Amino acid sequence: MWYNIEVCLHIVTRKTTMHTLPPLPYDYTALEPYFDAQTMELHHSKHHQTYVDKLNEALSKHPELESNDVLELLANINNLPGDVQTAVRNHGGGHANHSLFWQILSPEKDQLISQAVLQALDADFGSFDQFKTALMQAAVGHFGSGWAWLVKNQQGKLTIYSTPNQDSPLMSGDRPIMGIDIWEHAYYLQYQNRRAEYVEAFWHVVNWNKVEELIVG
Ligand code: MN
Repeated sequence: MWYNIEVCLHIVTRKTTMHTLPPLPYDYTALEPYFDAQTMELHHSKHHQTYVDKLNEALSKHPELESNDVLELLANINNLPGDVQTAVRNHGGGHANHSLFWQILSPEKDQLISQAVLQALDADFGSFDQFKTALMQAAVGHFGSGWAWLVKNQQGKLTIYSTPNQDSPLMSGDRPIMGIDIWEHAYYLQYQNRRAEYVEAFWHVVNWNKVEELIVG
């Protein structure tokens, strides 16, 4: 009898430590007309799910890493076993980047930006417009797939840059605040090759309350 309980507990533990797709905090239609429902559904339920599945598959060979969340894995990527580093970088990065992306978007369009956020952006970029222009340039100017980021570095300074593929700012010790997904899967159905239009639309659906939480925290 004790044996069966132990087996059951083990299975439960394993299941709960697997990485899972976080539910989208709004409907697939909620960001229309800026982000269309079909893109949102495919992006969340297929693309993000695949990153989660492939991360779990790669980690299944390393039960010693089961208790680490994806943020810890990325922050310590250089100390991980060599055979999982690429999977953590690509699929762990994909999982973490998309988990943040869903949270910094909001169905409440054109949210007011608080004084706290404006002051933080003014301090490091001169003005909100200079910040916005820099992040848009990083997004539109990035060659190929990747992300444009607003991050907080280890000195507490806000900075903008882009990363290729699913590379996470966490791998270089920076804390991501806002990310714009510039993979074609994020916009091609609605905007085709017009990445700049998609990036322009992004600003209407930013969850500035969440951004504030991340800047202050
Ligand atoms: Mn994506």
